[in-house]
Amino acid sequence: MAKQDRTDGNALRPQTRLVHKGRPGAQESCGAVNPGVTRASTMLFDTVDELRRPPAGKIPYGRRGTPGTIALEEAVLDLEGGPEGSECRLVPSGFSAVATALMAVTGAGGHVIVADHAYEPTRLFCDGLLKRFGVAATYVDPRIGAGLTAHLRPSTQAIVLESPGSRTFEVMDVPAIVAAARAHGIPTLMDNTWATPLYFKPLAHGVDISIQAATKFLGGHSDVLLGTMTAAPAHAAALVRTHRQLGLSAGPDEAFLTLRGMRTLGLRMARHWAAGLEVAQWLEARPEVARVLHPALASHPDHALWQRDFEGASGVFGVVLNQGSEAQRNALIDGLHLIGIGYSFGGFESLIVPSDARDVPRTAVPWRPEGPAFRIHVGLEDPADLIADLAAGFDRFHKAA
Ligand SMILES: *Cc1c(COP(=O)(O)O)cnc(C)c1O
Repeated sequence: MAKQDRTDGNALRPQTRLVHKGRPGAQESCGAVNPGVTRASTMLFDTVDELRRPPAGKIPYGRRGTPGTIALEEAVLDLEGGPEGSECRLVPSGFSAVATALMAVTGAGGHVIVADHAYEPTRLFCDGLLKRFGVAATYVDPRIGAGLTAHLRPSTQAIVLESPGSRTFEVMDVPAIVAAARAHGIPTLMDNTWATPLYFKPLAHGVDISIQAATKFLGGHSDVLLGTMTAAPAHAAALVRTHRQLGLSAGPDEAFLTLRGMRTLGLRMARHWAAGLEVAQWLEARPEVARVLHPALASHPDHALWQRDFEGASGVFGVVLNQGSEAQRNALIDGLHLIGIGYSFGGFESLIVPSDARDVPRTAVPWRPEGPAFRIHVGLEDPADLIADLAAGFDRFHKAA
């Protein structure tokens, strides 16, 4: 597709790239800044010859993309920063991105190694469909690092990383794991939803397929379900083929909203990071709190890894209380005015969910919080208002004793 790309060269900084990449050429958009929302299944051709051999820039069929999904793929590819020959594909959800990427690199008789703190549906897929198709899964301690080598089998086809875990927030030693996997020619997949490629670049760290639940920070407004997969050149063909054979595509509205969200990703992430830390530090100083599970806090056991490898933090973290019952914790949560009770994160509004051991199924290293726990996503509100909301919550916590 002919691009009016004024941003060639790698000198531009991340927020500038977020503004300028994935913009359509003038002819494709009648001059509009944003790509249109093109609803299309059939594309028309002038001749049989054209139909059989679509000219450059023409898409054979709507499932293969529309101007908006192609623009979004370009923007994500740029954000991920993979080498020439990398490919990005969109799928209808973040979960579907994990499943599709796994299908791209596995086959019957194979074996995968998965971080024990992986997003729960990732486990569901490995223990369900993958197993049914003859692929076994081993779950390992997320802090395993180079010790991963001991779990490799001749049949191992992929290593699935997630860092930090979105409930328990252990940071993985990605360079050590990638080195161990590479020494044996095994591809690594990473669910990088927490940091976004703005704050951690999986491909630059040698990961083979970077996965985003764009539903979260890329979309950023709690109104989109979308997943992205970006493969380094060695695995690009397999990813593209699998995506196509599964008949996956992304809707034009979802692509439009995600691309719109990405224009402000840098601003939002900086705010989530700063406000999240402010709320986390306030919580850490509360007498009822045993631990705040936030990698950017000096008290976090993996803080040094986060400092070494990440360029920032999102506003999603865990809190473990040192006292009280689940009922008291629920009283804290139930009366919150600003912080909504609900799954997901990455939107402009703050969210909270309980995180009890039963919400965190693990098999390699059981999670044993000292007391009732919860996860917070700090949105774009003024953190002082969120702290006041939580302070009133602690009053309810004590009244419910
Ligand atoms: C939310 C989430 C997903 C799944 O994204 P959906 O779009 O909701 O399917 C995958 N991984 C992580 C870490 C997530 O937080």
